[in-house]
Amino acid sequence: MTKKKRIRKKHHTKLRKIPSVGYFGIFILIFGIILVNISLISTNNEISTINNEEKKQNLNKIDPNSAQDEIIQVVTSTALIKDFVDNIGGDAVKTTGILVEGSEDPHTYEPTQSEITALVEAEIFILMGREGLEPWWEGSGGYAQVVLEDNPDLKVVKIMNESMIRMDPLTNAPNPHGWTSPIVAKEMCRNIYLNLTEEATSAQQDDLRESFENYMTKLDGVINEINGNKTKLQGTKVVMHHPAMMYLYDLLGIERVAIIEEQHDVEPSAQHIQEIKEIMESSETNKIVHQTNLDHDTIVEIAKDTNSTIILSAPLIGMEDYFGNTISSYLELIRANIQAFDNPLVADDLSEGGYIDGLSLSVLIPVAIFSVMGIVILLKKKKI
Ligand SMILES: [Zn+2]
Repeated sequence: MTKKKRIRKKHHTKLRKIPSVGYFGIFILIFGIILVNISLISTNNEISTINNEEKKQNLNKIDPNSAQDEIIQVVTSTALIKDFVDNIGGDAVKTTGILVEGSEDPHTYEPTQSEITALVEAEIFILMGREGLEPWWEGSGGYAQVVLEDNPDLKVVKIMNESMIRMDPLTNAPNPHGWTSPIVAKEMCRNIYLNLTEEATSAQQDDLRESFENYMTKLDGVINEINGNKTKLQGTKVVMHHPAMMYLYDLLGIERVAIIEEQHDVEPSAQHIQEIKEIMESSETNKIVHQTNLDHDTIVEIAKDTNSTIILSAPLIGMEDYFGNTISSYLELIRANIQAFDNPLVADDLSEGGYIDGLSLSVLIPVAIFSVMGIVILLKKKKI
């Protein structure tokens, strides 16, 4: 008998002698099942949300005397604005459409025919209202004129004013991403609130005021969290892929030294990439702020060559955080962008088939191993 066989035999007899091995098998099987369930929870949540939405709509259809006619119907340009509207509007307001969703990029967005139809049929359309951010609306070849010709009664609410926008010293252009500061977000919400109130009945106005004030308190809470993190992050030097986080980083005292993206959706030149590497070296910067909806390759290259870590930022709802979880509210978004600094990625996380694949594999492989082990041990026990 070879040594290997002896060991195997020894193991087998040992296994047979332990009476609790059946319980152990059951334990492992249950553990496997729990892990599988955990990995499915997020999907289930989405499904149940959709079901609730459907139920709500059906309920509204069934009751002929419902306040359906009085409910203020709103189309929003982004999921971020929908989140503001849902929080401020409560039961008085219903969002009937969002145009730019998930990882869609507002800078390069093109509405579909059905989205144009939704706008032509809408009562109120709420958007950020900055041409640099939403060129598809008022930019050259934008759809504002077409939509307003067909729907002249459409109330168009732009929630960003000139005063919320600052020049970006790194691009020498106005930076349109004001909402990444909750202080600016509060002003945007006030604009939404004032416009919704104009359309509301007096009973709805009371509801609106209450939910608006509640949401303002929540935004103040997140501003306090920013101040709490200021000491930790102040002076941190970063290079930005895209200039979206300027407003939040200014509040946190994070120092942006350069921007990789020269023009949106255009790959930076080799010369610019070389300049970035030199700036990083001379300023001793070793963090690159990236977004999942932007091209990974340049970031991987710069991170490897400068030995830097990658901070994953998410300026919009529907994008994924550093764990691959979808961000579903503005409050979550601000927190995820702060916590990203505690969870830096390395270049390999992005280059090896993407960080999300890596994460799901790291969950699924143990799940599979535990489940198979559980089944094998149970079967063995039965045979014995
Ligand atoms: Zn942007």
